[in-house]
Amino acid sequence: MCGIVGVLSNKEVINEIYDSLIIIQHRGQDASGIVTYGDRFNIKKGEGLVRNTITEEDFNYLKGHIGIGHVRYPTLGGMGIENAQPFISTTPYGIALAFNGNIINFNSLKEKLEKHDRRIIISTSDAELLLNLLSAEMEKKRKFSPDLLFEAVKGLFDKVKGSYSVVALIKDKGILAFRDPYGIKPLIFGKKDNSYCVVSESVALATLGYKTLRDVQPGEAVFFNTEGKLYSRKISEEKHYPCIFEYVYFARPDSTIDGISVYEARLNLGKNLAKEIRKKSIDIDIVVPVPDTSRPVAISLAEELDVKYREGLMKNRYVGRTFIMAHQSKREELIRIKFSPVKEIMKGKKVLLVDDSIVRGTTSKKIVQLIRDAGAKEVHFASSSPPLKFPCYYGIDMQTKGEFIACKRALAEIREMIGVESLTYQSVEGLMESVSNEKVKNFCSACFTGEYPIPANEEEVCKIEASRGCKS
Ligand code: SF4
Repeated sequence: MCGIVGVLSNKEVINEIYDSLIIIQHRGQDASGIVTYGDRFNIKKGEGLVRNTITEEDFNYLKGHIGIGHVRYPTLGGMGIENAQPFISTTPYGIALAFNGNIINFNSLKEKLEKHDRRIIISTSDAELLLNLLSAEMEKKRKFSPDLLFEAVKGLFDKVKGSYSVVALIKDKGILAFRDPYGIKPLIFGKKDNSYCVVSESVALATLGYKTLRDVQPGEAVFFNTEGKLYSRKISEEKHYPCIFEYVYFARPDSTIDGISVYEARLNLGKNLAKEIRKKSIDIDIVVPVPDTSRPVAISLAEELDVKYREGLMKNRYVGRTFIMAHQSKREELIRIKFSPVKEIMKGKKVLLVDDSIVRGTTSKKIVQLIRDAGAKEVHFASSSPPLKFPCYYGIDMQTKGEFIACKRALAEIREMIGVESLTYQSVEGLMESVSNEKVKNFCSACFTGEYPIPANEEEVCKIEASRGCKS
């Protein structure tokens, strides 16, 4: 999961790119980067949060009326400044590119590019690969026009297997954006006066005062030229499979993706989860969310069950990923610093704890213990998504199969491992019903169901898993 943005305007764009990246910071905290074009390419990227990477002094040279930005969450290739985006290619025209997703056939494409197109990929980033693929396709056309540009994107679509939402700045031409044929990752654009903004989540458009025009369609490319004219072409006609986990966990609740409000989807998840709880006739006094994602789920679940909703667990918002990595050996203490129960709420109560998902189960177990230590009489657990059982090949750094607690374990065993009186998962049907609307009914739900819209072969799976440092 990463966040991307591109802005084209008749004014300086650095402020809007910076602000957009702050708004979508939740999509990646490991690295950030901005490229603008004024009378030359200006670039600043580095590891860490946007506010730490892009300083006030950087605003003085990140000049130009066109620019792109990126926040990174590591998938293939791991961390490190050499993998921070955007990447720049000098030929043809000068192109900067940033992307969100994961390229399944990275290795074979890299080999071919190096052998046949004599383009060398220096990093292990999929973005650098996509940039070189696009550059090679554009080079073949010899001339530039929006039509030829869309044909170049088609050439890229024909080769690349995986998920990708892309923004690219083409020097003196404009901003190109496209979404893979299955539309797995979100991408949306809007207009304000003489400016266009294309970004991962709609909340950035709303906050910056843009009028949302629409989502980039699956398999569609859009191009905003420097005169402010918009071109678009639907290049591929595959079935749409947006990532359902965006609605459960990744996206901000104040975003709308493919016409579906993330907040409303989470309220629906609560209603459907209540149906599962009712089947078990569990007796509870209060519903408590694990902040922040599960709040709307817990609110509607409590309403449905007619039980009190209480914010009984507080989250320290300053404990970020960097802090966690630096203290990896002390995971147990970390949970105590990150979450703190309100004893006055928990004491003597039968608590139903609601979280968005259970991955390894280790965090859930620690949180349950915190609540018991705070004096809860009973702790019940509800997950707003079904059991996570299968790895994601499309850009989410989710464990290999062996690390999921729900892989090859029965419910009773998981319940015992995390130490609760009862454990309830959302059903796959409940998940689908909560998120879908009249227009979007198919989703990628592979991490829950094992049904991959773009299957990876054994060799590709091994390489993806090896890149995550896993052996299973
Ligand atoms: S496998 Fe899961 S996390 Fe990955 S794209 Fe599909 S639904 Fe999203």
